[in-house]
Amino acid sequence: MAQENLNPFEIAQRQFDTAAEKLGLDDGMREVLRYPKRQLVVSVPTLMDDGSVRVFQGYRVQHNVARGPAKGGIRYHPKVTIDEVKALASWMTWKCATVNIPYGGGKGGVTCDPKKMSRAELERMTRRYASEISIIIGPDRDIPAPDVYTDSQTMAWIMDTYSMTRGYSALGVVTGKPLELGGSAGRREATARGALFCIREACQVMKKPLRGATAAVQGFGNAGAIAARLLHDDGARVVAVSDSKGGLYSSRGLDIPRVLEHKENTGSVVGFKGAERVTNDELLETRCDILVPAALENQITLRNASRVRARIVAEAANGPTTPGADRVLHERGSFVIPDILCNAGGVTVSYFEWAQNLQGFFWDEFEVNKQLERFMKRAFHEVLETSRKHNVDMRVAAYVLAVARVAEATRVRGLFP
Ligand code: GLU
Repeated sequence: MAQENLNPFEIAQRQFDTAAEKLGLDDGMREVLRYPKRQLVVSVPTLMDDGSVRVFQGYRVQHNVARGPAKGGIRYHPKVTIDEVKALASWMTWKCATVNIPYGGGKGGVTCDPKKMSRAELERMTRRYASEISIIIGPDRDIPAPDVYTDSQTMAWIMDTYSMTRGYSALGVVTGKPLELGGSAGRREATARGALFCIREACQVMKKPLRGATAAVQGFGNAGAIAARLLHDDGARVVAVSDSKGGLYSSRGLDIPRVLEHKENTGSVVGFKGAERVTNDELLETRCDILVPAALENQITLRNASRVRARIVAEAANGPTTPGADRVLHERGSFVIPDILCNAGGVTVSYFEWAQNLQGFFWDEFEVNKQLERFMKRAFHEVLETSRKHNVDMRVAAYVLAVARVAEATRVRGLFP
């Protein structure tokens, strides 16, 4: 089998190139949109609990700001690289344009192993990282949010660090904050809820009722765990789930509320009684109607794509499917809801949070979920229509829609100077 290129940024550029080709963009516009606008690499010296000092490598990349401030999460993971952050930042540009919210794309990351750090170490590292990137972030410049292994507490530290240097409380500098600190109702569930809204629409397209459908979810973090719960609440039979330590399978369906409890108590889904153990690779090949990759990039590749049996693949993660695997899934008749549409619920409610912060007027959860449903359904159907019009799959369609919007914003703004 040919060696697949798994460099996330080169994959992101290939996805962009396909859309640019379909849209007939001229070479100059392609060059402008293909590369990040700004890349900041920072050293993050951190005092460890044993008195030593460690220097972590951190990044903040702003891919594009043609339609508004850069927007996107911050990831803490041992495998974070500049190319991963560049890919994630460009996916944010296309994601925000797909759901038509007034943002560009950005992303940040620190190469570290948060599971091996104490809370105090994480706080010191986060505050120093926040201070290092404070030269480019801000409520109308670039607005971070949670991503893999960061959460509302991380955002509270960033918001506080930024605010202390400015001398006032700048709520709008990050989203995904705790509720007590200007966070939005429904933000924690938003990525999963947005994916659920897409899955409901996809079920209609595939003429398969969600109630009684079988689902497998890879990843049990903010996106995966809540997606499993929402699918379970909607009457789907969740037959498999997993986290970084391994997975569970039960053909009868897992008792998701109890799996959540087990994860809460033990830190993993592994060890849950009354289910078989499966690996993450086996989970992806589970016989099921709906597969939800909700972990990291490059999970469905040329190596395993032909064994993926799900009719609907809902990408709650960013970049879970390689371009080669994408082709295989499409040929096999799977309906793939691409990441830049499927997981856009998170950034959409981030947008609501930011708007609430700027207005100083807060919505209740009912209002947030209602608006989220409106944004997600509209985006889903715009992408579906584009896919029918151009006779392309949902990913190419989402890119065509998004790239056209960003290209038009770039064109009307004109080139400075
Ligand atoms: N990290 C999330 C994503 O990849 C959310 C970003 C945000 O809310 O800005 O979409």
